[in-house]
Amino acid sequence: MPPRYLTSLNLRDFIQSAHEVPYQKIDSDLFPGIELWIRRDDLLDPLISGNKAYKLIYNLIEAREQGADTLITCGGAWSNHIYATAAAGARFGFKTQGIIHGERPPVLSATLRDAERFGMQLRFVTREQYRLRHCADFLERLEIDRSGATYIPEGGSNLAGARGVALLGKVIEAASPIDFDQVWLACGTGVTLAGLLSTAGRYCSVHGIEVLKAGDLIRRDTQHWLKAIQRPECPKASKPLPPGEGPGEGAQGAPEQFMHSNYHCGGYAKCPDYLRRFQRTFERQTGVPLDPVYTAKLLYGLQRAVDSGRIPPGSRVLALHSGGLQGGGRGYQQLKRSKIAILDSFLL
Ligand SMILES: *Cc1c(COP(=O)(O)O)cnc(C)c1O
Repeated sequence: MPPRYLTSLNLRDFIQSAHEVPYQKIDSDLFPGIELWIRRDDLLDPLISGNKAYKLIYNLIEAREQGADTLITCGGAWSNHIYATAAAGARFGFKTQGIIHGERPPVLSATLRDAERFGMQLRFVTREQYRLRHCADFLERLEIDRSGATYIPEGGSNLAGARGVALLGKVIEAASPIDFDQVWLACGTGVTLAGLLSTAGRYCSVHGIEVLKAGDLIRRDTQHWLKAIQRPECPKASKPLPPGEGPGEGAQGAPEQFMHSNYHCGGYAKCPDYLRRFQRTFERQTGVPLDPVYTAKLLYGLQRAVDSGRIPPGSRVLALHSGGLQGGGRGYQQLKRSKIAILDSFLL
């Protein structure tokens, strides 16, 4: 029996674990007329879960191949990516450093407490310093020694991250209980959407729910990453992949992609009462825990789309549970704190 969770850093075991992620059929009057399933990637691993696990896998493998002993990344105080990276470092034997947006608060968020417990060294930087996170000399400006270290950008959002999510599209094709007409997922940066489009986009339509007011930014970034992942000469993508792990052949065409920008519920990490009520009802009916920042908006948006007749009756729809529970139930803590936390602290 291969390991059920992510116990070793190797692509075959990762794919095996991804194949074993359960699909749950949703029996709820919230979604009349469609056949709805949820793929429970929140259950991929107790700590390294959801889309952040897919975005990390190639980053981790590349770090190991390069002989790096340290992972450096950045994020906000409630970041799912910080949590997953800290856990992955502890699990697979990397030291980890987290560059955190804002001053060190007197009381750390539960996420950062866990990250420290996993051994992550936290470095708090000012907003101005953090704003430069996309610059090539971000670490140099902070005088962070990058020898022996791999830098993973915020949210795991780089080409390696998108390629990891492309694996997910392959796994869904190979291991789903039924063939789906549509796949729906929550979008922050759009990297997950791009990765998924590159593979799942050739066998079904892909719908992204934007969880923030982003204008056409997510759409543009998604196209950028989709092009990058499909470009064979791209240095990181050009490494020969084991068979069945690259983007699918049909992915070169234009995959059917739909962006839904009306379900951000007021903006990033905003959780109005109607969303809370929806989340509670959904969780009670299905037993599937959601987080208020991403997956609650995904299911809420899907429900509204069903309600307004935008999904053809009889459609077989898959919603991706992209995680965000940080070892279980953290969504509720976020919810309680979201009134006082700086909204930016939820960043990715
Ligand atoms: C980060 C995150 C997303 C968004 O992923 P992007 O690749 O930034 O679009 C969705 N769901 C959860 C639970 C996340 O943590």
